Amino acid sequence: MARTIEPDCRQCRREGCKLFLKGERCTSKKCAMERRPVIPGQHGNSKRRVTFSEYGTQLREKQKVKRMYGILENQFRMYYEKAKRMEGATGAVMLTLIERRLDNVVYRMGIAVSRKQARQMVNHGLITVNGRRVDIPSYQVKAGDVIAIKENKQDNVAFKELRGSKIVMPKWLEFDSNTLSGKIVALPSREDIDSDIKEQLIVEMYSR
Ligand code: SF4
Repeated sequence: MARTIEPDCRQCRREGCKLFLKGERCTSKKCAMERRPVIPGQHGNSKRRVTFSEYGTQLREKQKVKRMYGILENQFRMYYEKAKRMEGATGAVMLTLIERRLDNVVYRMGIAVSRKQARQMVNHGLITVNGRRVDIPSYQVKAGDVIAIKENKQDNVAFKELRGSKIVMPKWLEFDSNTLSGKIVALPSREDIDSDIKEQLIVEMYSR
């Protein structure tokens, strides 16, 4: 399975914002964006202001979203191509398709502390959809789907703290931390997704 090998914090420093790739560390003082918020590399510390061309701005926005969700270029482009063929604003539809990935849902439900951990849980077969094991992180969830932690894995140490805890999550999702299962109440809309993303820039870049 292909994945990016660039260190997580370096990716945040490159994009100049927190991408929340490392779970609890991201909200602590140890976060590299708190301690050293400069572009990685030899000239990262230089006082010169970095200005981007139009293309550069579009490219950075695309890279930011790709890195945030842990998706590589081919698959990311596939979401764009699929969104183009669907009804609605391409950028918003593309984001909702990405948001519906099973690994993202596991992260949003609070089962995993980061999307990377969520992806690993799915890959290792710890997650079921409607009672059946699904080990494909890019699996697209549908409204009404029931997402749960596999019964014989519920005593896993990774889920000990989860049981009975209070989890804040988007309104399109539900999760019961006592039964360790949740539901897709409705499909996500653009308003449910990080408003800091300027998806129009990504669409402009791909449609050049
Ligand atoms: Fe990014 Fe998290 Fe590292 Fe902070 S701790 S730089 S948010 S990955």
